[in-house]
Amino acid sequence: MQILDGRKAAQAIKDKLKLNTAQLAAEGKKLPHLAAVLVGSNGASETYVAAKVKACEEVGFKSTQIRFEEKISEIKLLDQIKELNNNPDVDGILVQLPLPEHISDASVINTIDPDKDVDGFHSVNVGKMIQSLPGFISATPYGIMLLFEHYKIETKGKHAVVIGRSNIVGRPISILLSNNANPGNCTVTICHSQTKNLKEICLQADIIIAAMGRPEFVTADMVKEGVVIVDVGITREMDETKKSGFRLKGDVHFETVAPKSSWITPVPGGVGPMTIAALLKNTFRSCAMKNHE
Ligand code: NAP
Repeated sequence: MQILDGRKAAQAIKDKLKLNTAQLAAEGKKLPHLAAVLVGSNGASETYVAAKVKACEEVGFKSTQIRFEEKISEIKLLDQIKELNNNPDVDGILVQLPLPEHISDASVINTIDPDKDVDGFHSVNVGKMIQSLPGFISATPYGIMLLFEHYKIETKGKHAVVIGRSNIVGRPISILLSNNANPGNCTVTICHSQTKNLKEICLQADIIIAAMGRPEFVTADMVKEGVVIVDVGITREMDETKKSGFRLKGDVHFETVAPKSSWITPVPGGVGPMTIAALLKNTFRSCAMKNHE
């Protein structure tokens, strides 16, 4: 069993981005600038935005954090996004989800200029991804593809089982893995809460992407020897022995599944850091497009 170490792979990507950003600075060109919008004070969202802003600093990008109270109206939030769309210095806009219930995720996402939609959630970018056209691929599935690339995981002809069909993880990764590309060229089965024979399907998988948000759901009896496991799940479980008061649990029972796997991501330290590295790559590319205009 070998570890798909997201921290190491993400560091390699960040090291390269740092060099490329220093090169832009040396040439007197515009530096990448990410604007992160946070609504309310959800603990997990605060942590994710802080990590993204810190990662920007690490590689020499500019970043702006814009915070709003939970009760901000949808119209006001949309106005703020339009302002960021019109700001030529901003290359990437991310709005941390989930948003409060009175605000429509779809309206917010589809108000972001697709050319600044570095989270890759805008319908235009999703459409481009489906057609294998250049656009922004959403950060978590893109991060998983970069992880496969980094560790040279053979995907061609493999049976990939994706558990979860959300717009941000399950569905896009199922499309990317099925594309005629490398990584890609998998035969993909996508499963969800209504799938009847999940265990039987998982037992046929060469690659399992677990993206459910159900801690330790995938157990050793559900996987075959030599499987590649990507555990996307992050669930916070109370743990008074931890300084933070919680521990992170993946969707896979690591202790029992790891010995049967050829490769497996840990939680934390697997998909999470790759998501941030992918977001940085998208932001750099958005800026590079402007530098060439
Ligand atoms: P989501 O929107 O809640 O979707 C969960 C999916 O799992 C749904 O499609 C659901 O099926 C399916 N599901 C739930 N229970 C199931 C079961 N018992 N059997 C089979 N399928 C089941 O979640 P998400 O946003 O995709 O996130 C999934 C997990 O990934 C969460 O833990 C989240 O925190 C984590 N995540 C991590 C990162 C990262 O960077 N590491 C990024 C994003 C998300 P239905 O469609 O039928 O309801």
